[in-house]
Amino acid sequence: MPYLSEIQHRRVIEPNGNEVGQLADIAVVPQGQFPAAQWAIISTPSGERVLRWGDLAQEIGHFRLRNRLETTTDAQLPTDALRLARDLLDKQIVDTHGAKVVYVNEDVAFDDFIAEPATDALASLHKEAAPDLILFGFTPDSRDVAGRLAARLEVGLISNAGDVAAKDGGFVAKVPYFGGAKLAAMKANKKPAIVLVRPKSFEAKEVGGTAEVKDLKITIDAGSKRAHVTERVVEASEKVKLEDARVVISGGRGMGGPDNFPLLEDLASALGGAVGASRAVVDAGWVPYSMQVGQTGKSVRPGVYIAVGISGAMQHTVGMKASKVIIAINKDAEAPIMKMADLGVVGDALKIVPALTAAVKAKKR
Ligand code: FAD
Repeated sequence: MPYLSEIQHRRVIEPNGNEVGQLADIAVVPQGQFPAAQWAIISTPSGERVLRWGDLAQEIGHFRLRNRLETTTDAQLPTDALRLARDLLDKQIVDTHGAKVVYVNEDVAFDDFIAEPATDALASLHKEAAPDLILFGFTPDSRDVAGRLAARLEVGLISNAGDVAAKDGGFVAKVPYFGGAKLAAMKANKKPAIVLVRPKSFEAKEVGGTAEVKDLKITIDAGSKRAHVTERVVEASEKVKLEDARVVISGGRGMGGPDNFPLLEDLASALGGAVGASRAVVDAGWVPYSMQVGQTGKSVRPGVYIAVGISGAMQHTVGMKASKVIIAINKDAEAPIMKMADLGVVGDALKIVPALTAAVKAKKR
């Protein structure tokens, strides 16, 4: 997709004024399939393309874009738009990241029943394709499916891996322990090796290519429809998602209390980023668990990570140390976070953060 300069009343315009397409729809893809996110479907002369809402928003300017587009919730979304978004996304993702074949099964059972039908489908695919390695993202749905699949195929599984590599005719995965201070190398002793990889633990390389799309023919019988989804809730947020944000500003106990977190929100909105937190403040009830970064929270790898009033315990840093640039704001020059920071600012966060926000806003004017 060329660089976009503007969306005007559903027309997608390049900086030189050329119209590159029409905005066809906005889709919300529910969690489990992809991270819950909004996607814009754009019709171009060469076909339909899907763009992540966050990328569009970042290119065009979140607020200007919001004023021009109608958003829709998952519940209001036409099924066709959702399916189209998923199909186009599948194709875009696999083409970019080098998959040779994509197997598709569109049984409606997958809409409401997840773990058991998915286990049936993967067990059947295993019979047909006999892969040596089956990879899952380390997500709640995947854990459900991978555990069942491992039991069905009578093999073990390696969970929470940060890396996986072929070695001596098998696969070895690196799994963190002691809060990420140590790494264990775990080898699967049977095939297929089933490995759950922690999202964002390594970069997905764009290698190009075109994937062949094949139908996976299976019948989902009644016995596989015992547990089903009873409700779907779309997180009520139009903000940039923590896991997708290019800039993350996380607050810790040094923020002094929940009333000071809006200072971080202001900075995040000036930088087009998202706000995270340490476990200490989540446990204290200042912010929800969905904002926690670290061993028992989310892993992030943004371009810039700003740790504000966070000491830098290893259980926190394991979730953010892959960030490209780390900035720490802490009143203690000896805090452990300062040792890993590319830039350390020593001082009172409650004074530094508003000053930084004002400077960013002034620069944008
Ligand atoms: P503190 O350690 O109390 O640090 C506060 C910092 O703020 C200090 O460095 C202080 O100098 C600074 N400060 C104070 N006032 C100011 C000010 N006005 N301006 C600037 N700086 C100031 N933690 C996580 O974050 N994520 C996890 O996922 C996680 N998982 C864990 C799992 C296990 C099994 C265990 C045992 C612990 C886990 N923890 C996790 C907790 C972790 O060990 C730390 O206790 C926690 O990260 C500390 O949070 P903090 O840095 O906000 O608080």
